[in-house]
This record gives sequence, structure tokens and C-alpha cells, in this order.
Amino acid sequence: MKRNIYLDHAATTQPFPEVLEAMLPFYGKYYGNPSAGYELGEKSKKAIEEARGMIAATLSVDPETIYFTSGGTEADNWALNFAARMSKNRSVHIITSEIEHHAVLNTCKELEQRGIRVTYVPVNRDGIVDLAYLARAITPETTMISIMFANNEIGTIQPVEKIGWIAKKAGVLFHTDAVQAYGQIPIDPNRMGIDLMSVSGHKLNGPKGIGFLYAKKDCDLKPFLFGGGQERKMRAGTENVPGIVGIGKAAQVSHRIMKRKIQQEMMLRNYLIQRIFREIPSVKLNGSLDMRLPNNVNVSIAGVNGGALVALMDLEGVCVSAASACSVGSGEPSHVLLAIGNSKEEAYGSVRLTLGPQNTREEIDLALELLKKSVFRLREMEEN
Ligand code: PLP
Repeated sequence: MKRNIYLDHAATTQPFPEVLEAMLPFYGKYYGNPSAGYELGEKSKKAIEEARGMIAATLSVDPETIYFTSGGTEADNWALNFAARMSKNRSVHIITSEIEHHAVLNTCKELEQRGIRVTYVPVNRDGIVDLAYLARAITPETTMISIMFANNEIGTIQPVEKIGWIAKKAGVLFHTDAVQAYGQIPIDPNRMGIDLMSVSGHKLNGPKGIGFLYAKKDCDLKPFLFGGGQERKMRAGTENVPGIVGIGKAAQVSHRIMKRKIQQEMMLRNYLIQRIFREIPSVKLNGSLDMRLPNNVNVSIAGVNGGALVALMDLEGVCVSAASACSVGSGEPSHVLLAIGNSKEEAYGSVRLTLGPQNTREEIDLALELLKKSVFRLREMEEN
């Protein structure tokens, strides 16, 4: 059987056994429509509200501030489209960063087509947003600042609390894409000044195709999908009951184990980074070491193409990711890696390894040996 070492937890994660167990009955015997007026429907409705409550408890917020969506992308689209519609009689301005996920960046591009002005705040070499630039960019037209909590490629954690404070002072809404952060590190929307927040189930050992938008009550969120009265008339469509049950359970479990998980991932991550630097020459770490998700390693390796490295590692049974959107040298280099000051070559030569709670020291040792073997092979090929 092919070896399987999974080091791509930023792409997606394996559902916890408890998650699958909780979901299964809602694909089977509890198939009732939550809007139906009989007991079978009530069972689904109750499960949805339980999941909402479980998520709200992890954030210390009111359950009514949680709106289920089809995932992180939809939650980002909802938040930004809400910002775009906030002003009826004056032009609208939105502030975001250069290193957002495409769920935010491409939504902003679309809004620009509709006449909305968008400012893309740059980041420093560590991948941290320039707060002075951000503060200066605010105008009376600004309706929202949307800055991600943690980056999906380089794992950088933004100074969210400071951004929340800047937004509050200016009377502007603060949305954060927390798809990579929720369930991984502690988040307190009230203390951090977060008004809206996007989350996705499949990044926290939950199911795919489900997520939520948190929206503080006083931000007066408007509906996104129109139709039936689901999600308090804010997001129409029959609910993905098994998905909602799954994300609720995933939220609960990931918060229960968070402290231990962070310690374990950080220990393995630091060990992996140290060994990569000691044993592979001409390597550069992408993103801040201190303000970084506990599970993220992203390095640019000179003389190596990230796409080719991913393919070789796959042959060895190890799943990693090239942070560039390209595969084997084609396509554009990652906008995130360019934004932190990398050359195109450095961006093409990057690889991302993201750890999860199931990874062991033995797996990391083996993955490192295979990484070294693959890098030296690619460098040899390059030289000949
Ligand atoms: N935002 C970030 C930071 C992500 O990493 C992702 C997924 O990779 C998304 C948004 C999109 O989430 P989803 O896959 O649930 O649509």
C-alpha cells in the first residue's frame, strides 16, 4: 500500500471520527426538512440550533450572530457584498490587503467592476499588514476593512486586535477571513473588535461545503440569498443539516483539544524548520516565525520548482503543497509570496507543509528525509 503522510492541513483536513459519527444519522434516519412542522423536521431543526449554540460557545457570542453558509468563500462574498451595499447615496470604499485569499481578492475585483473603490494594503517582509498605511487609507466613504486573521500560504497571523481598534475608532466595520485561524488558535470577536468573520468547516476537521459568517448584532447585516425564510430570512435555502451538525461538532472538538494541539504542532513545526535549515542548503522561510500559525512551514528552496517537488513527494506518498498557484512551472507565481518581497524564482521555488493533530514525530522525520531526497534530485536535474 502507498505510504500516506498528510502534510497539507491548510488545504483541507480529515474529519474527526466524532464529526462523522454525529453527521451520519442526519444522512439516514433523521432526514426531515428543518422547516417541516412535524417531529422528524423538528429533530433537524433542533440539531441545527444545537450546532449554532456549540459554535457560539467557542466564541463567547450570542448564537443569533452565527449564519450558516456553504463555506468560507460564501461567507467572504456575503460580508464584502454587504459592505458594498451599505451606502445608498454616496460612493463606497473597502480596504483589504494584498495577501488575502482569492475568495476575498476576486470578490473585491468584481466589486471594483461595479464601481466600488478598493484599497489593497501592502504587507512587510514578514507578511504583516502595514497598519499606518491601513489607517491612512480610511476615508469618509470607507464602509469596511477586511483583513484575514491568518494567511493560508505563509501562516502569518495579523495584528487583528489593533486592526479592530483602528476600525472602531474610524466607525468602520471590521471583517476578518478566519478560515485558517478558527479552530486552530483562540479567537475572541468581542475583545478583538471583530464585527464580521468567515469560517469554513473543512479546515477544522469538519465537513466540506459548510461554513458560517459571524456578524455582530449591531452591524445590521443584510440578507445574501433570497428565497425561503431559513437562517432568520438572511440566507435562504434548505439547510445542509449533516454539514451543520458536522461543523458544530468539529468546532467543539477542536476547541476542546486546542491547547494540546497547538503545543504539539508548534513543537513538530519548529523541529521541522530547524532540520530543514540545517540539512538543506539555500532555504528561506516565508512569513514571520513569531506571528505564525502553529502548524505552518513555508520555505523557498533555491534551484527547485515547487510544483515538481510536490509531484516527487506525492510519488513518495507525502502530500505537501506548492504555495504558488502554478503546477510545474506554468501559471502565475503566488501573489502572497511576491507581496512579501520574493522574486518570481523564489515564489516558484516554494513549498508549504502544514501539520495536523494526527501527525507524529516519525512522520516528520520520514517526510524530511524524502524532502531532502527530492530536493537533491531536482537540483541534480537542474545542473545537468
Ligand atoms: N479563505 C481562506 C483563507 C482559505 O484558506 C480558504 C480555503 O482555502 C477560503 C477562504 C475558502 O473556503 P472554502 O473552501 O470553505 O470556500
